[in-house]
Amino acid sequence: MKIKKRYWVVYLLIGFIIGSVTSGLSFANEVSTVLIVSIDALHPKAIDPKASANIQRLLEQGVYTLDGFSTNPPLTLLSHAAMFSGIGPEKGGRADNTWQSGQPEIKEKTIFNDAKTKGFSTGFFYSKEKLGYLVNQAVDQHKLDSDFSVDNAMAFFKASEQKQFCFLHISGLDRTGPVEGWLSPGYMEELFFIDESIAPLIEMVKSKGSYLILITSDHAGHETIHGSDHPDDAKLPLIMVSDVINLTKYQGIQYRVTQLKPILESVLLPQNNIKIEKVPVK
Ligand SMILES: [Zn+2]
Repeated sequence: MKIKKRYWVVYLLIGFIIGSVTSGLSFANEVSTVLIVSIDALHPKAIDPKASANIQRLLEQGVYTLDGFSTNPPLTLLSHAAMFSGIGPEKGGRADNTWQSGQPEIKEKTIFNDAKTKGFSTGFFYSKEKLGYLVNQAVDQHKLDSDFSVDNAMAFFKASEQKQFCFLHISGLDRTGPVEGWLSPGYMEELFFIDESIAPLIEMVKSKGSYLILITSDHAGHETIHGSDHPDDAKLPLIMVSDVINLTKYQGIQYRVTQLKPILESVLLPQNNIKIEKVPVK
């Protein structure tokens, strides 16, 4: 009887060890691939199944708001700096919409710092020089390229199987809008082109699994104007899709660009730090 009792204790101990190990190694709910796409000057009203079938599909698969808000004033660098740092111009964030290579870069901690802390390698691929302001020490790879940002992001994801965090900025609508008008046929055509161009990247990220994909923008515009206090100028979408994280609490949120950083911090919290209850051994 004594021997049997001892076995029973051993089984319990083995069970406890296996339980501890599997709990500790369970990454089932942890995101390992993050892609954030900021489509410069994307008006949420432009998103539809015809002009942007791929973005529309993400919207249907995930959670979203089409009523997000930019900074005041709603301008490219101010808005992206607020997204990255969580600080808008009214609270000491970036208030100057111009920046050139060689000028001082952002001092505040950004979404890249958070990503590095959580063990991600980081990439930032952008298509306007002024966004170079946002390159800090926490950015492992970065490249300014007005035409091939998507290709650069794909090369980044291809190069590694580690945890990866990528912010991709795509311009085009910000050039078409001021010339042909927001939501004009030319603007919608440009969006179609952008939507098609990001499709392989989205597929690639999805095929990696354990992903979080965000599609957003920095501001919109009206007629051929942007950056004004017209309500359309501050509008932007936020679409979030993941195969491992339950995002339902973000459906229809009243979103401002300064919330991107805290949202990412919350979503990317490791879910594997579950407390293990000790099995009482008697
Ligand atoms: Zn912009």
